[in-house]
Formats: sequence, C-alpha cells, structure tokens
Amino acid sequence: MSDSFRNICVVGGGPAGLSAAIALRRENSYVTVVDCGIPPMDKACGEGLMPDSISALGKLGIEIPADVGFPFRGVRFADGRSSVRADFPNGAARGVRRTILHELLIRHAVTEGVRIIWGAKQVRLVTNGLSVNGRFINADLVVGADGQNSNIRRQACVNRILHERRRYGFRRHYRIAPWSPYMEVQWGPRSQIYVTPIANDEICVAVISRDFNLRLDQALPDFPDLHERLRTAEPVSRELGGLSISRRLHRVHRQNVVLVGDASGSVDAITGQGICLAVKQAHALRVALRAGNIGEYQRLHRALMKRPQVMGSLMLMLERNVGLRQRALAGLARNPEVFESLLALHVGASSFRRVCSWRLVDFGRALLAA
Ligand SMILES: Cc1cc2nc3c(=O)[nH]c(=O)nc-3n(C[C@H](O)[C@H](O)[C@H](O)COP(=O)(O)OP(=O)(O)OC[C@H]3O[C@@H](n4cnc5c(N)ncnc54)[C@H](O)[C@@H]3O)c2cc1C
Repeated sequence: MSDSFRNICVVGGGPAGLSAAIALRRENSYVTVVDCGIPPMDKACGEGLMPDSISALGKLGIEIPADVGFPFRGVRFADGRSSVRADFPNGAARGVRRTILHELLIRHAVTEGVRIIWGAKQVRLVTNGLSVNGRFINADLVVGADGQNSNIRRQACVNRILHERRRYGFRRHYRIAPWSPYMEVQWGPRSQIYVTPIANDEICVAVISRDFNLRLDQALPDFPDLHERLRTAEPVSRELGGLSISRRLHRVHRQNVVLVGDASGSVDAITGQGICLAVKQAHALRVALRAGNIGEYQRLHRALMKRPQVMGSLMLMLERNVGLRQRALAGLARNPEVFESLLALHVGASSFRRVCSWRLVDFGRALLAA
C-alpha cells in the first residue's frame, strides 16, 4: 500500500463500508469507520446473497457459517402463465437475515483491527480528514460508504448523476418453511415480488414497484398462489421500506475522497446484486490503492457496474412492457437453456461474449418479431 494512505476513514458502516474497511485494513492501513447508526441496524433488503457475493466475501476472509441463513440453488421467474428456473453454475446462494450479515461483518472488521465509531453525528469533510461530532479525525483518504443519500458524495462535489430511476421496495418476514430451493421472482401487473428462503422456518418477501403507496398487503392479491401460501403464515417482522435506485454517477472519486456501495451508484434491487457490488468495489479499491493509483478505482468501478447495469436494464424493460414480458417468460419457459445462460451471466459465471451465442440472438429475434 502506498504510504500516502496510512490513515483511512470510512463514513458508513453498512456492507460497503465494512467490506472496504476490512479490505484496506488488510493492507496495514489504520482504518476507522464512522456511522450515524447504532447496531443492530436493519434495512429493507431481499436478503439474497448470490454465489458471487459469497465468494467475494470469502476473499475478505468472511465465511458464512453453515448454520447461518438458508441455501438456495437458483432462481425461478414466474408470471402466473409461465415459469422457468435455472440453477447457479457457480455454487449455491444463501438467504441471510440482514441483521445477521451485518453482525458478521462487524465482528470480522473488529477482529481485523478496524476501529468503529457508532452514533457519529455531524460528519464533515475537513482539510486532512473528518470532523465527527466536532472532533477531528486525521485521514489521508476518506471512503464515502454512506448509502443512497450520501452526504460525503455531496460534500465532495461528486454528485453529478448521469442516469437515475427510482422504485420502492418493502419487505417482511414470514414464519413458514421454504417451499422451494429457488429464489422466486414473481412478475405481477403492478409489481414484482421476490421470495428468499432465509431459515428452515422463515422466508423474506420483498415487493418492488414504481408506486410508493403499494405495500405488500395490497400487492399480494396480484399473486394468488403466493397470497394463499402466506394467508396462514405468521409475519415475524414489521414491514420495512427502502428506495430501489438505478443510478449512474459521472465519477466516484475526487482528490482524497472515493465512493463505494450505494453511495457510488446502484442497480435496481430486483437484480439482487447490491451487496455483491459493494464487496467487489472494496476489493477494487484495495487493488487501486496498492498500485498507488486511486484513479484506477474509477476504471475498475465502471467495469464492475457494467454487467449488473445491463441486466438491471433488461429486467426493467420487462417490468415496463407487459406484452414483451409475457412473450419473454413464455419463450424462456420453452427454452430454459437460454434462462440458464442469462443467469450464469448475471452471477458472473459467464461473459457477454459467451452468452451472445446464436441461440440467444435467435431467441431475441423471435421475441421482437412475435
Ligand atoms: C427492497 C430492496 C431489496 C434489496 N435486495 C437485495 C438483495 O436481495 N441482495 C443484495 O445484494 N442487495 C439487495 N438490495 C440492495 C442492498 O440492500 C444495498 O445495495 C446495500 O445495502 C448497499 O450497502 P451500502 O453499505 O452501500 O449502504 P447501506 O446499507 O445503506 O449502508 C449505509 C450506512 O451508512 C450509514 N450512514 C448514512 N448516512 C450517514 C452519515 N451522514 N454519516 C454517517 N453514517 C451514515 C448508515 O447508517 C448505514 O449503516 C436491496 C435493496 C432494496 C431497497
């Protein structure tokens, strides 16, 4: 690690901030995380960790214990007329309760020697560091990991947005045994609902839509099978909402400030890629700083965002166009190997070049011609 980054301050102790802190601490920097919240901190999330998220966490030394969460082997899409499913080619995914994941990350960060200050109010960028509750903390580098509404992004003037689309997500947990080894994404007329198994007697149900007023109880009747299953299941958490934002920023670093996680741009929640991106960005930041070239992070960040952005755009296209969605799901149900290729691409087990085979091109042509 370049000597110019001995003291690092990370603002935000969510998955992105803690991952960045762990990655940079492994380079022998002194790392302090400051967060305005106090654990346990919960957040609206579908709580699915894709296989690529699990391996990115593994590279930080974080293994998810076998008795934590619940494994699932793939993804199933359904719209009431058609359904298609595929297995992940790169190992199982895992549903993990958000608070448990957070606890794991905190514990690992502390073991690695990261200092964490919770309940930090009034965090301001100042010359050579941060002011936290009026106290100066010296930092050669400030990492903004303070989520969608990043204050650090605003203060560092890296707030120029190239593209933004907002949706709304609400989630609740139910006490019921998972009925499928797949994460289910159900497409309805007004929303998508996805169901993630998170324990042998619990699932996480999240609804995402463009309508801020559409809560789970209003959305569920659009999904009769799921509605029926959940009718007698006990809700075991209160409904929690959050913004699902597809956002691309002009840049993610300026002088001695870099952004990671949702603060640095994000993809729609339906991709289930938010945490994966956050952890991979932490690795990318470590690589850039080790090379003593913070500007390199911008390039690596852009490359990491590309695949989830494309997949997110495809899914939002299906969300907006009912006819296309029905044809696509029916077509995928007839050609499950195409869905398999797309899922492999989605979780980073395949490349655009490999997936853009004649089979997929034929499928796309047939879809557009129908
Ligand atoms: C409905 C929904 C479902 C989702 N489902 C999935 C899924 O299944 N799988 C997946 O991988 N991703 C999912 N995501 C996305 C995922 O939740 C985010 O991408 C992830 O939380 C980003 O982590 P982060 O650390 O960047 O931000 P956050 O988790 O938002 O953490 C930011 C941290 O910064 C702190 N903070 C904020 N402001 C300040 C401040 N001014 N000063 C100090 N600290 C501050 C906060 O307290 C918080 O701890 C979903 C999102 C939504 C909305």
